[in-house]
Amino acid sequence: MERKNVLVLGCGIGGLAAANILADKLKGKASITVIDRKRYFQFPPSYPWLMIGKRTRDQVQKDLGVLSGKGINVVNEEITSIDPVRKTVKTAVSEYTGDFLIISLGTQYNPDAVSGFSEYAHHIYDLESAASFRDAVAGFDHGSVAIGISRLPFKCPAAPYEVAFLLDDYFSRKGIRENIQINFYTPEPNPVPSVGPEIADKVLKLLGSRGINYHPRLKLKEVKKNNLVFESGETMDYDLLFSVPPHAAPEPVVKAGMTDSSGWIPVNVKTLETRFPEVFAIEDVASIPTPRGYVPYLPKAGVFAHGQAKVVANNIANAIAGSGKMRDWDGEGACFLETGHGKSAFMKGKFLEEPRPLIDFREPGSIWHVQKVAFEKYWMRHWF
Ligand SMILES: Cc1cc2nc3c(=O)[nH]c(=O)nc-3n(C[C@H](O)[C@H](O)[C@H](O)COP(=O)(O)OP(=O)(O)OC[C@H]3O[C@@H](n4cnc5c(N)ncnc54)[C@H](O)[C@@H]3O)c2cc1C
Repeated sequence: MERKNVLVLGCGIGGLAAANILADKLKGKASITVIDRKRYFQFPPSYPWLMIGKRTRDQVQKDLGVLSGKGINVVNEEITSIDPVRKTVKTAVSEYTGDFLIISLGTQYNPDAVSGFSEYAHHIYDLESAASFRDAVAGFDHGSVAIGISRLPFKCPAAPYEVAFLLDDYFSRKGIRENIQINFYTPEPNPVPSVGPEIADKVLKLLGSRGINYHPRLKLKEVKKNNLVFESGETMDYDLLFSVPPHAAPEPVVKAGMTDSSGWIPVNVKTLETRFPEVFAIEDVASIPTPRGYVPYLPKAGVFAHGQAKVVANNIANAIAGSGKMRDWDGEGACFLETGHGKSAFMKGKFLEEPRPLIDFREPGSIWHVQKVAFEKYWMRHWF
């Protein structure tokens, strides 16, 4: 029998898990290739800690070369185009064809979608930017910090709130909090709307208890030096600016005609298969409608990328082996919300549940912070 090829495009959270599970299940019975422009796996959930000096770069990344020892071909190249019908992928230097494609290319950032963003805004949505914001934060001792969300959708709905809570904690520990005003702006009507109004209210109260001023329904129009202009005409002064950058689907999937009016790749919610047979798309790059949800689409988060990778890798391995139980993705996921002072809140949900998602919220506690650290350790060790 001819040896099958599986191409995994992108080796972030979804791609790393999928490639490992396939290698483990198929044990040499198929060729598994991951293609990523980066030589390193980097773990974004640790960036808020890096931002306040609690992690170094080396602690949040791992060399992907290690995967070769597990029988995974690691290709360190830029993907330039995808042909989902022929299941062929071109990179800057070569061309690859698979029997199955897993697209886990995440998002790209389009900072130029907001005038002045690149010039004045900091963020922590990639490692370089997180390190640069850390340096700006370390040198800041008085004035006004604006923290906010420029455009929807964006990945990890909790991350900008973690930035606000952790900066509050950091400046408090330095004894300079009273010299610093923190304003949070967002186009959303309430915090973390994907988990429903009751939890939003709890996060709102937490922000209030920490002296963080919350400004909803403000869509950023332009960033000027020390001043934000919103589409409503309102403005906000700042001395230090954090803003989630505008997100978009990576260019190769857009050019391939794989995206729909949502801007992302539509998939079968249960199997993650795209409209192209044997071509799957995982999490951030995909659009997963949640018609019964609090928001129209599933939030983009690593926990979902992991769950979906398990299902897709299981089903591809079974299809190749010709045996085994096919699985459906269940829409479940959990995440931590670091609130500073050694504590995290915790949220766990069934996002595809009818008639409404079932979501549980646990108040900030040190137990959840300890579990978030354990979650980080798992990701930095388990797959390497
Ligand atoms: C600050 C921050 C905190 C977060 N915290 C959490 C958290 O606590 N919990 C949680 O569940 N989620 C969290 N997330 C979200 C989580 O990181 C993402 O949802 C998750 O990484 C998505 O996985 P993915 O596989 O879809 O994409 P990614 O992990 O982004 O992987 C995409 C990969 O594709 C590669 N790639 C893209 N384009 C190309 C190309 N053209 N050629 C070659 N390679 C390419 C990239 O280099 C990357 O390695 C956080 C995100 C951020 C930014």
